[in-house]
Amino acid sequence: MELRLYDTLTKEKRPFVPLDANDVRMYVCGPTVYDFAHIGNARPVIVFDVLFRLLRHLYGEAHVKYVRNITDVDDKINDRAARDFPGLPLNEAIRKVTEQTGQQFHADVDALGALRPSVEPRATEHIGEMREIIEKLVKGGFAYAAEDHVLFSPQAMNAANAGLPRYGALSNRSLDEMIAGARVDVAPYKKDNTDFVLWKPSKPGEPSWPSPAGIKAEGRPGWHIECSAMAWKHLGEHFDIHGGGIDLVFPHHENEVAQTCCAFHRERMANYWMHNGFLQVESEKMSKSLGNFITIHELLADWPGEVLRLNMLKTHYRSPIDWTMKSLEESAKTLDDWYRVAADVAPGKPAASVVDPLLDDLNTPLAIAALHGLRSSDVPALAGSLRMLGFLSESAAQWEGRKQQASGVDAKEVERLLSERTAARGRKDFGESDRIRDLLAAMGVAIKDSRDGTTWEVVR
Ligand code: AMP
Ligand code: ZN
Repeated sequence: MELRLYDTLTKEKRPFVPLDANDVRMYVCGPTVYDFAHIGNARPVIVFDVLFRLLRHLYGEAHVKYVRNITDVDDKINDRAARDFPGLPLNEAIRKVTEQTGQQFHADVDALGALRPSVEPRATEHIGEMREIIEKLVKGGFAYAAEDHVLFSPQAMNAANAGLPRYGALSNRSLDEMIAGARVDVAPYKKDNTDFVLWKPSKPGEPSWPSPAGIKAEGRPGWHIECSAMAWKHLGEHFDIHGGGIDLVFPHHENEVAQTCCAFHRERMANYWMHNGFLQVESEKMSKSLGNFITIHELLADWPGEVLRLNMLKTHYRSPIDWTMKSLEESAKTLDDWYRVAADVAPGKPAASVVDPLLDDLNTPLAIAALHGLRSSDVPALAGSLRMLGFLSESAAQWEGRKQQASGVDAKEVERLLSERTAARGRKDFGESDRIRDLLAAMGVAIKDSRDGTTWEVVR
């Protein structure tokens, strides 16, 4: 079977043909580092990690390059820095915020079983490339400087029409309609309302860099240009896959395509545009004001990261996902079972019944159904397939131990109570033996008696 991927631009599932099978290249928009990442942010991380693993499986580990950036220049970062470290000079405060948040992000996504990307570029380390692209755009007549800003003109792009994509094609919008209905950031320095910012002046004390396009005052980049610059630097002018959440299609990705294609006179930036659907919590949009905003960090206090990972992959990446406690509990039970039967087994090759659905535009729900099938038919293949998908990073004993720790169950105390219970049963004191069983149940421990003795497990 061949890999087929859904492309947001052409709105079809197509066979995946890499530009260079020895150098398969993927870019995914990463986090803006100003606060703990929420569980919605975990979705692209997990989805594109599965794709990264699948591509490595198909083309070899050395032949896949995955770039996920870190946006470390942004108004939200500046606001956070001023609020959290009022005593520090702003630039130092900003560095503290981005360092702390970046480390937290790594701790979170490592726990989710996501491989680190091949490169994690930071926006602030690519200002030179941003300036270069902006200069090319100004020279080409696609951008202009006004009042210390540099603006990109989608109308100039669509007027040029020479081997370029149409502005609006990715997000399926018409520029004429955008012009007619434009409420997009009306600002005096814009020639047209649809123009967007490539570069802007910095306020006093804010991070600033020498400006492009002959602007004397120092300034800072707009958001969209960051990704064009980092993708160019690490993957070239034209690469295979560009991903992110569905909310990024417009304006972020539409503008990335515009910048990159106009700067380098190309028809395509990426050959496949992939977008994950949105995550909501217990059927409601996640938001701070509704009080249902959950961070990955908080969830990891209650659940192993692999439970969150499995829970995420039970829904196809393009569908909306409803994140519920009930589903999490089921995912935890499933993983407990898989750990018990497969974690300590020598892994076989990943099964075709698991890989084939993944080849069909990452159909993870079907792959997971196949895993359930392997549970009773081929445990080594189950173990190999689970590992390929980023599960079973621990031994069965480690998993059980961590679960007990997380649930606050003291294994020694459980063993002590169990031997008391065995003694009570030995002297036919069933009242006492029942009392101990109830005591264990209250601690969250279920016991099972069999001919071979008594086993126990933590149930949530
Ligand atoms: P941000 O830091 O807001 O730019 O988001 C980082 C990534 O998380 C982007 O790819 C977003 O599309 C994605 N994302 C943000 N919120 C959600 C959500 N509720 N569901 C799914 N993906 C999301
Ligand atoms: Zn981006």
